[in-house]
Amino acid sequence: MLSLKFLTPFRIIFAISFILAGCTQSADQAGQQQNTTPPNIIFMIGDGMGFEYISAYRYAMSEPGAGTLAPTPFDDLLLGAATTYPDDDTWVTDSAASATALATGVKSYNGAIGIDANKHPQQNMMERARSQGWYTGAISTVHVNHATPASFFTHHPSRKMYEAIADSLATPLQPGVWRFDVLLGGGYRYFSRDDKNWLPELQQQGMTVITEFDQLTTTTTTPVLGLFAAEALPAAIDDQPRLASMTQTALRLLTAKQQQQQQPFALMVEGSQIDWCGHANDIACAVHEMKDFAQALDVVLAYQKEHPNTLIVITADHSTGGLTLGQGGEYAWYSQKVMGITASLEVMTRELLELPRNQWREYLQPRLNLELTEEEWHRIAAVEVPAEAKGRDRQKAIRSAIVPIISSHTRTGWTTSGHTAVDVPVMAIGPGSEAFRGYQDNTDIGKALLKLIR
Ligand code: MG
Ligand code: ZN
Repeated sequence: MLSLKFLTPFRIIFAISFILAGCTQSADQAGQQQNTTPPNIIFMIGDGMGFEYISAYRYAMSEPGAGTLAPTPFDDLLLGAATTYPDDDTWVTDSAASATALATGVKSYNGAIGIDANKHPQQNMMERARSQGWYTGAISTVHVNHATPASFFTHHPSRKMYEAIADSLATPLQPGVWRFDVLLGGGYRYFSRDDKNWLPELQQQGMTVITEFDQLTTTTTTPVLGLFAAEALPAAIDDQPRLASMTQTALRLLTAKQQQQQQPFALMVEGSQIDWCGHANDIACAVHEMKDFAQALDVVLAYQKEHPNTLIVITADHSTGGLTLGQGGEYAWYSQKVMGITASLEVMTRELLELPRNQWREYLQPRLNLELTEEEWHRIAAVEVPAEAKGRDRQKAIRSAIVPIISSHTRTGWTTSGHTAVDVPVMAIGPGSEAFRGYQDNTDIGKALLKLIR
């Protein structure tokens, strides 16, 4: 009997083809043997990435009127759609409840991190992976203790317990067993606080801690905690794209682990700020975050080609903003105008607050690149920032003057600054991907993934 235990995935497929070619086994038997090596799982979550965001990205990458669309890495992967509603009477989920559903297969209330509606901790994907001897990792473009990554590793009654979540991430599951091999994103200030600085302690216990983005390429040891910003990383439109390089590093490190011991890995990759741009009703910001996510998907697809025993599943936790491509009765969406915008509203409004009003037009013109009317310029210059407004709320006042102007020039629609209850895309490729076909609930995705971890 041919032992498959110590063969790499490629060799197993080769061996099975060889056996089948000799017709000595039924397809069923061969299937069972292939099943003896579960695939690596790369679970990609576009936070807030409803179908409309994929459409926006596709059109923004294409030339209007050319008659063809630019190819995107999403094109060949769509298998179905998923409902996202939480365990209450609202239909509209937040990222915590939805990530809990995706990571544990159990519905919960908005705000819940890895626990059910009765506050009972539910085993998550990464804990299950660890219990089976798998390697684990996660990547986020916001703080690693934010709702989505937190739900894959920890259990807390509220997503707002940022410090407690950071403490959980920094605490081994059991002595010597970390929750992750690779954890990359932002959130430095939650691990290095006045009341507790985890970083020297973690390093003393053998963890590699990196805080400079450049260190990604030179890191060779795990476990590694990479915290590249005090909180979230900069938005892709304002800075270099980062998700693809973090993904590349995570895959390199996890593959190296695999060469020591033939165990699969589970990696969660989050395009975290698609949602944040949606909350800000910032279409240019959203399209650039989609591009960042698509570039990470390119990296993952290339990896899967080299390592075919890898399952890739892509979905969103919900959609955000009620985005529509087309607005105000006109049959058009001006993707090129969207792509002409060069900064996020977050950065523009922050910087405007530092400038006298008579310089606002000069500042905004080369960033918006839109032909504003005098009336529109006047509306922006006359915006009232309430005297009592503090911090972000001051930016919000300016943003609410600029958003309708960008929206009418580009014909982009938004109905809410929050989330919506629409179904989200489900895409998958690789061994086991058939489980994700059709119409399903987000908990079904979580359950199917947990089943594969054995
Ligand atoms: Mg998130
Ligand atoms: Zn959100």
